[in-house]
Formats: sequence, structure tokens, C-alpha cells
Amino acid sequence: MTLPPALKALALATKGFMPPDEGDALYEAALVAGRRLPGLPFVEVGSYCGRSTIWLGAAARAAATVLFAVDHHRGSEENQSGWEWHDSTVVDARVGKMDTLPFLRAAIHDAGLEDFVVAVVGQSPTVSAHWRTPLAFCFIDGGHGVDPAKSDYEGWTPHIAMGGLLAIHDVFPDPADGGRPPYEQIYRPALASGRFTLVSATGSLRILRRTTVPG
Ligand code: SAH
Ligand code: MG
Repeated sequence: MTLPPALKALALATKGFMPPDEGDALYEAALVAGRRLPGLPFVEVGSYCGRSTIWLGAAARAAATVLFAVDHHRGSEENQSGWEWHDSTVVDARVGKMDTLPFLRAAIHDAGLEDFVVAVVGQSPTVSAHWRTPLAFCFIDGGHGVDPAKSDYEGWTPHIAMGGLLAIHDVFPDPADGGRPPYEQIYRPALASGRFTLVSATGSLRILRRTTVPG
């Protein structure tokens, strides 16, 4: 139950922030969720150039479902010019803003996953507010500020079906390791809500299962 080697090589050659072991854990978890809840789709919040999207799109194909890859493609705060995680090659010179959509599209094409990955281009809170379909799997790796993380928690976690999985990236319980919002605004509230239980941890990736009815 791992990503085929050619796809893994492609994922690792794609710009992005998903370490190989965490990508593999993401793939396995998505596959488990897809098999447990046949037919229900996956959502990824924060695709960037498609690195994690390759692992998840391949898992969607293996589970005979689809992945909705949500991103406004203008980059998070930490991806902007002057910040630590900026890459000037993803700026659209005509509009003077980041545009990672062409990179995502190329990655998904080259991975042969166009039939299994649907790019949804827009603000995550707007998309989640109109979302109606229960999810087998939801991966949250969008904006890592307090407000974006909080709204992703509030907007997406209610859509995860009973028995489905929530994956959260960049969870750093120790502030020395990285920014806190994914930990403070998503991971902790999910566990505290009583609706989720921890399944596994790989690096900064946490996998939680939706277990009970919302209180
Ligand atoms: N999952 C990727 C990295 C994602 S980086 C990987 O593993 O490589 C975070 C992404 O979240 C960026 O592409 C940014 O554009 C997107 N993002 C941040 N805030 C968002 C919002 N409010 N709505 C939609 N996308 C958002
Ligand atoms: Mg991340």
C-alpha cells in the first residue's frame, strides 16, 4: 500500500513541502479511508504546486474515488515575497502575484491523475461554506495563520463522514519546531471536541478519525 515508485519520484520532483515519509503516511491513510467509505470523495486544502496532491490523487484512484484539490493558488502569507517560504519562480509577472495553478496542472497531468483530481480554485472558507458532500478523507494544509487555520477547522471538519479521516499537516506541539496555528486551531480543538481520535503521527502529520456525533 505505497505510492508506485514512478509517482513517488514525480512527487519528490514537484515543488512543495511534503516530506517523503509523511507523503507515504498520507497515502496509506487516504487509502484506508477510501476503502472504508466507498464512493465518498477526498478533499485537500492547500495543494500549492501539487506535491502532496500526487500522493492523494493516486490514493483516490486506488480507492476508486476522486480528490477535490482546493487552493486559491495565490500562496499563503509565508509564501509571499520577503517571507521564508517564497519561490520567485511561481510569480505570475503579468499580475505580480503568485500563481501555482499551472504547476499543479502540470504535476497532475504528468502523474496521469487528471481523471481523479479536480482542482477547485478559490478561497477555502468560500468553498467549505457551500460544500455538501460527506468526505472519506480531508487533508488540511492551507494557510497556517491563526484565522485561516481556525476557519479550515470550522469549515471542513463537519463534512468528514463518521469513520472518515482528518489529516493535518505542520502540527508542531513544540513552538521551537514551527508555527502553532495548525496545532492550536485544528489539532487540539479536533481532539477536544470529542468528535475525533488520534490514529497516527508521522513527522508533523497527524491522522485523526471521526468517531462520534457532534455534541
Ligand atoms: N500541500 C502542499 C503545500 C501547501 S502550501 C505540499 O505538500 O506541497 C499552502 C497552500 O495553501 C498554498 O498554495 C496557498 O495558496 C494555499 N492557501 C492558503 N490560504 C488559503 C485559503 N484561504 N484558501 C485557499 N487556499 C489557501
Ligand atoms: Mg504543509
